[in-house]
Amino acid sequence: MTTVTTQTEQGLYINPEALTAHLPALNYRNDALHMEQVSITELVDCYDTPCYVYSKQAILDVYQAYTDSFASLKHQVCYAVKANSNLAVLGVLAQAGAGFDIVSRGELMRVLAAGGDAARVVFSGVGKTYGDIEYALTQGIGCFNVESISELALINEVAQQLDKSAPISLRVNPNVDAKTHPYISTGLKDNKFGITHEDAVAVYEQAAALSHIDIVGIDCHIGSQLTEVEPFVAALDKVIELIHTLREKGIELRHMDLGGGLGVRYIDETPVSMDEFAAALLPKLSELGLTVFFEPGRSIVANAGVLLTRVDVLKPTEHKNFAIVDAAMNDLIRPALYQAEMAVIPSVLPSKGIDTDGTQPWDIVGAICETGDFLAKGRLLALEVGDTLAITGAGAYGFTMSSNYNSRPRASEVMVSGNHHQLIRPRETIESLYENETLWQAQ
Ligand SMILES: *Cc1c(COP(=O)(O)O)cnc(C)c1O
Repeated sequence: MTTVTTQTEQGLYINPEALTAHLPALNYRNDALHMEQVSITELVDCYDTPCYVYSKQAILDVYQAYTDSFASLKHQVCYAVKANSNLAVLGVLAQAGAGFDIVSRGELMRVLAAGGDAARVVFSGVGKTYGDIEYALTQGIGCFNVESISELALINEVAQQLDKSAPISLRVNPNVDAKTHPYISTGLKDNKFGITHEDAVAVYEQAAALSHIDIVGIDCHIGSQLTEVEPFVAALDKVIELIHTLREKGIELRHMDLGGGLGVRYIDETPVSMDEFAAALLPKLSELGLTVFFEPGRSIVANAGVLLTRVDVLKPTEHKNFAIVDAAMNDLIRPALYQAEMAVIPSVLPSKGIDTDGTQPWDIVGAICETGDFLAKGRLLALEVGDTLAITGAGAYGFTMSSNYNSRPRASEVMVSGNHHQLIRPRETIESLYENETLWQAQ
């Protein structure tokens, strides 16, 4: 089997065909990159660049893998909306029966607009306001994942005002090292998230004494892009210990929520497979007799998506070669924010065949006035101005983290299914970026 990466003195070569062999949504046919059955060239002709493209089938396949792997248990997969919140993506998952994990009122409104069921939504997040809680309760939210004592008191107060009982879980912080990038590690005791393991029982007892609170579960989420199973198991053990203690105190739960965080293969990582994940957790989960919730985001959508971008300028310099492309850090911030390495592959394979011949090392950069504006560094590619490149693994934390920095309209989004494709969000117009702004008119 051909290896995916070759590190040479000049830079990193990623073999496009070997890479896409691991990405079910993508394949090369007659040297032309396709998503499902649609060629990238056709998509660029229709929608221009920069453009995010998502495979409907790839999204559904991972969702199905979760539900199949845990079929022996009562379970609910709550897709983490912040990974990719386009209505088409949410709608596809809602139709498949998914629940949702949200972190804002805006995300709840999106879920409802996409046909999702509020009763299958869990509301996470450290800063829920009175208005957020009121809206969620009115819509019939499935569960609030409570992150502090003051939030618990506020939820009780709002529920009392509305004459409702608010379903809650406590998000406990198991103090487990997820061994991932510090910015996406959330389960350590110095993180802002959750209630410490030590305080959890006392806070449950306080919750049980509140008039308008209905304790339904327990929740933890220790981080993102986890590539090992041990941190999940360690967190689960700590949660199970709490469940037993709570039972002894007469506090019975209906569900436990293991959060999200399952990592994906961006280039040549070896993340935990779904089988390995299920095998490690199932024996422990089966004994408990609770419904199990998951909150996967990245693992469902990352490899369903690519960001397509065009090479606008090639700028070789004495020390480095820069390929300036029409996407930038405002479109895809993961490389700049998390030092994420993402694969960049050509939409058409160079006719020379697939090896490092004819390639040069390139830094793939945007046109933004920031040195941190790069999408990949030191990649061996054979490039010409006008080429289309696909940045893979861009379905999660891509568009949702994009901004209008440098007054750049955000990219368009397209969904592909079989040989069909549909624009699911047009590229913003430049005028729309300032249409709600006003000139200073007072004296
Ligand atoms: C971000 C987040 C998730 C999803 O994490 P992934 O790594 O994308 O699976 C799940 N739960 C909570 C509370 C989150 O903040």
